[in-house]
Amino acid sequence: MLPLPGANKEGVIAFRDIKDCETMMETAKIHKKAVVIGGGLLGLEAARGLLNLNMEVSVVHINKHLMDRQLDDTAAIMLQRELQQQGMKFLFGKNTEKVIGKARVTGVRFTDGSEESADLVVMAVGIKPNVAVAKKSGIEINRGIMINDFMETNIPGVYSVGECAEHRGIAYGIVAPLYEQGAVLAKRLVGSETDGYHGFVVSTKLKVSGVDVFSAGQFSDEIDTRAVRV
Ligand SMILES: Cc1cc2nc3c(=O)[nH]c(=O)nc-3n(C[C@H](O)[C@H](O)[C@H](O)COP(=O)(O)OP(=O)(O)OC[C@H]3O[C@@H](n4cnc5c(N)ncnc54)[C@H](O)[C@@H]3O)c2cc1C
Repeated sequence: MLPLPGANKEGVIAFRDIKDCETMMETAKIHKKAVVIGGGLLGLEAARGLLNLNMEVSVVHINKHLMDRQLDDTAAIMLQRELQQQGMKFLFGKNTEKVIGKARVTGVRFTDGSEESADLVVMAVGIKPNVAVAKKSGIEINRGIMINDFMETNIPGVYSVGECAEHRGIAYGIVAPLYEQGAVLAKRLVGSETDGYHGFVVSTKLKVSGVDVFSAGQFSDEIDTRAVRV
């Protein structure tokens, strides 16, 4: 959740667990207008879900293009057009400043002074590893719990895997690398031979029906890479 003024109002949720989904379904029965903050994978999946519930949906994104951590500009614009045809609206380059309303949310205000009305606000702005327990235990943390190639923290006998762990500077937010970390840890614990975990080439698939989007590896043009577009 973004720590915005007003973020504790009724009708402001994250997209994280079953309860969030239940809130979306209940809200859609009596309210019409949803704002999703975040034009990444999860934000778009939440937005599609809300369209399915017959809500009007505006997706607010701080950058100029959707899924900018997975797609280059050309692909992002193709995706945007498809989703617009499905009924999604977009507000780009908008930095949300506060959530407005009394007890219940009535909208969001942006740093440029403009506003968007909303009966429901869903925040899907990325993950932050949960490091509270590790921090209190004196385990070394950075963004996540620091681990080496064998899932070991700096405290002997204490290991970490998953979204809370940071390996070679990366805290992963999808399951495939976490399964690999788990497999390495299992081998380590039972004393089987393993040359450790070396990181993962992240690939992602957008789960929005009617738009097949897949992204893997390095996706933007660089001086020493040639992009092939079909
Ligand atoms: C809506 C949504 C859709 C997603 N879709 C995809 C997808 O399509 N593909 C994909 O690869 N990934 C997806 N992800 C990401 C994926 O779910 C996570 O990367 C994955 O669940 C992380 O696994 P984890 O075991 O590290 O953490 P979690 O699944 O978050 O599990 C951590 C557990 O620890 C518990 N816990 C926390 N603190 C304590 C404590 N102090 N004591 C005891 N227990 C504690 C929590 O309650 C929780 O049960 C999605 C995530 C969300 C939210």
